[in-house]
Amino acid sequence: MPARSTPATVPSRTDPGLSPVGALPGVGPALADALAKLGLEQVQDLWFHLPLRYEDRTRVAAIADLRPGETAQVVGAVEAVERGFRYRPQLKVAIGDASRQTLLLRFFHFHRAQADLLRPGVRLLCFGEVRQGAHGLEMVHPQYRRLGDDEAVAVEDRLSPVYPATEGLGQKRLAGTVAKALALLPGATQLELIPAALCAEHGLASLRDALLYVHRPPPDAALAQLAQGRHPAQQRLAFEELLAQHIGLKRMRAAVRRRHAPVLDGDGRLRRAMLAALPFRLTAAQQRVGDEVLDDLACPKPMLRLVQGDVGSGKTVVAALAALAAVEAGHQVALVAPTELLAEQHLHNFRHWLEPLGVAVEWLAGKVAGKARQRALARVAEGAAPVVVGTHALMQEGVAFARLGLVIVDEQHRFGVQQRLALRDKGRDGERVPHQLVLTATPIPRTLAMSAYADLDVSSIDELPPGRTPVQTLAVSNARRGEVIERIHAACAEGRQAYWVCTLIEESEQLRAQAAEVAHAELSAALEGCRVGLIHGRMKPKEKQAVMDAFKTGELAVLVATTVIEVGVDVPNASLMVIENSERLGLAQLHQLRGRVGRGAVASSCVLLYQPPLGQLARERLAVMRETNDGFRIAEKDLELRGPGEVLGTRQTGQLAFRIADLARDAHLLPAVQQVGERMLAQYPEQATRLMQRWVGGAARYAQA
Ligand code: ADP
Ligand code: MG
Repeated sequence: MPARSTPATVPSRTDPGLSPVGALPGVGPALADALAKLGLEQVQDLWFHLPLRYEDRTRVAAIADLRPGETAQVVGAVEAVERGFRYRPQLKVAIGDASRQTLLLRFFHFHRAQADLLRPGVRLLCFGEVRQGAHGLEMVHPQYRRLGDDEAVAVEDRLSPVYPATEGLGQKRLAGTVAKALALLPGATQLELIPAALCAEHGLASLRDALLYVHRPPPDAALAQLAQGRHPAQQRLAFEELLAQHIGLKRMRAAVRRRHAPVLDGDGRLRRAMLAALPFRLTAAQQRVGDEVLDDLACPKPMLRLVQGDVGSGKTVVAALAALAAVEAGHQVALVAPTELLAEQHLHNFRHWLEPLGVAVEWLAGKVAGKARQRALARVAEGAAPVVVGTHALMQEGVAFARLGLVIVDEQHRFGVQQRLALRDKGRDGERVPHQLVLTATPIPRTLAMSAYADLDVSSIDELPPGRTPVQTLAVSNARRGEVIERIHAACAEGRQAYWVCTLIEESEQLRAQAAEVAHAELSAALEGCRVGLIHGRMKPKEKQAVMDAFKTGELAVLVATTVIEVGVDVPNASLMVIENSERLGLAQLHQLRGRVGRGAVASSCVLLYQPPLGQLARERLAVMRETNDGFRIAEKDLELRGPGEVLGTRQTGQLAFRIADLARDAHLLPAVQQVGERMLAQYPEQATRLMQRWVGGAARYAQA
């Protein structure tokens, strides 16, 4: 990279933020170790260790003014003490104050010595949440301190921050250490890493003021606004954090772009043959996205493209055509899916399309073991296997490719960036890396895509194949289960097919399988004359495939399944879906499941069976499902209801573990974040690096791109 002139705002080497925390007065090795557990190693890490919430100890409330639900500080004298039973210890302490009201303090865990000190007449300063008890207001396990007889209560002059803490490091010490670090905060200009011109352009307030405010808000600060993270000072910090992340992802992407990739511009022979054999024509959207992918593949720079499209939009065909382009150019392709069942479906489709063209498709899942695995590995290593389909097993050590040119990852949201990198590194040959195509069936809200996937280009298949009829969705109480079963019976009599999905949230696959077996028995008995099949995660791949095949050919009328069918399963004749305990599932999962029907020309319906009473969130989710079939709408709603961490799956939130920003809440900041990010990367690379280090803590995570 050419050297650029760096503006004069770069702080000197004596930047106090870069000193180790051990340099602070009173921070010895033990405390430094405890801080390190929280990822706090440099002084600046403490500056950016932001409070989770605040406690208001700036005033003492009169007991008479307390309201249930509020957190308050009171001073009162002990009026009565009651020690609980021997087998269920409990300590109840009634205190009263000048407002002539009584508050009950309730302790379930206490030491005898502690209890002995709480005698009538003793004055206490208490802080805690007020609850409505059976006989009046109470506080359970309040924080408290005995006051001396004439001791005046010194209230805090600032709201008290509560920091993310860790075992062995209490709030008090942590807050004290943060305060010491804040004492070293340099002047506003020196602290600022966003160039002044950009701050002015985007109306960004002083970072120094924002930090001091967030660590020590004044007593009149709007606590509710602070609690929601919507205070301007917090928004200023959120902006900077999002900016740091954006810069990190862009850097990672740039690093990949500097590498080389094989030019995959085959003669189109295989692709034309596959298209000719398909029983349908590509939609305009498939055509467009397919062309975008082919253009990328023909470049000597690694492709990093995310293809998103709603369930059933036909992403698999696009992926298969991309794979053939690589094969035509003499390179290998790896296709990875998150579950064995989905990988099997891909295997099935790919074999169906590619093998008639003389392109062998290799299978490499976790369950392929022993000799079969050795042989498969050898074929992959020698380059004799042009296309390999599998699960995470493909990403494990010991799998080597001869000429990996393209990696296709399906259902991206379940993989993390790190996993993506691991797979791509399989094909690494010095500076040469394979192209990467990522498919996602869960549409990612635009705002999230911009941020979480700033390292990818995005293509959208925004059109469904013709002839599909929208799925009609209804929510039905489990009390009317019998009617639903009747309905299935009638549908099957007309030659239609149905899914019955059991959704136990139990973690164990065994319990889930059991629940499905129970439903299978129930339906088999109730649906006379219909053949009912069963599929769950504990079955062997061969058994699963046999059941799926029987359902596909129509031999089975009803398929009872666990959520293993959530992704990828494709049986166009199935037009009815019943989802049990739908109130327990998230929107993304419900949408995925529902996407299994509505694939043929027959009008389809989806019945969401629920167990009343419904909670507020569940009610909203089911309402959204009834209102719309649009995956993008649903994803936006999901983001609103759940927050981005969960939308993307916890496994990959490492990147998204923000300290202060919240993608759902702060999405409005993203356009400006992008603009400032681009300018900093182009004109102020050194500040960009330091900003990233400040927030992301060591650029190491991005460096391995
Ligand atoms: P998804 O995007 O959910 O992965 P699939 O690739 O599984 O969707 O496609 C869903 C179904 O639609 C499959 O049966 C596939 O063969 C079919 N399909 C794909 N493209 C078209 C098209 N252009 N016209 C008609 N059917 C199509
Ligand atoms: Mg798919």
